[in-house]
Amino acid sequence: MTAKCWGCAVGAGAIPGASFTRGDPVGCCIFCHALMCGHHGDRDPGPPRFECVLCTPALLVASAAAMSRQAANSPDERNALLELEGFGRTDVESSRVRYRSVDDFGVAHPRYRSILLNDLKNTNWHAVAPTLAATPIQRVVQRMSSEALSLMGAAKLLMNRLELPATEFSPTLLDALSAIGA
Ligand SMILES: [Zn+2]
Ligand SMILES: [Zn+2]
Repeated sequence: MTAKCWGCAVGAGAIPGASFTRGDPVGCCIFCHALMCGHHGDRDPGPPRFECVLCTPALLVASAAAMSRQAANSPDERNALLELEGFGRTDVESSRVRYRSVDDFGVAHPRYRSILLNDLKNTNWHAVAPTLAATPIQRVVQRMSSEALSLMGAAKLLMNRLELPATEFSPTLLDALSAIGA
């Protein structure tokens, strides 16, 4: 039996612009180590590294978390941020601020631009009403900068557009994204 793509196996939508056979792995994600086909993974020529479609939203959120450390006011809030920064781990140095803005992300991964950039230009992401912020990470989101909120918004848009299964993301990440709207 040959190796298969994890993104195909969980039914994730495809990143536009793939020129390889769907289902045939062309890389191994640097974060989750899943094998992915060219429709579900993209190579960032910057660092360089291969990132899967499921870790990309998490990386956008990790970048937003890493630039929001001063927004945490309690140990619970700090821990929630660290969890997002490290994809649930605190020993993954490579997941610290990778993108400083959505434009930064577009430069590293041009294939995602067509599903993101037009909408993001016209979207002003904001935190939900403070009365709805019930958990530590939702409280931190209230204090995030507009840059950090845009990165979170990009993650949310990607997950919706590509119909990425929520089961592939951590509860804290889903909780954080539930605290923003447009
Ligand atoms: Zn695939
Ligand atoms: Zn991955």
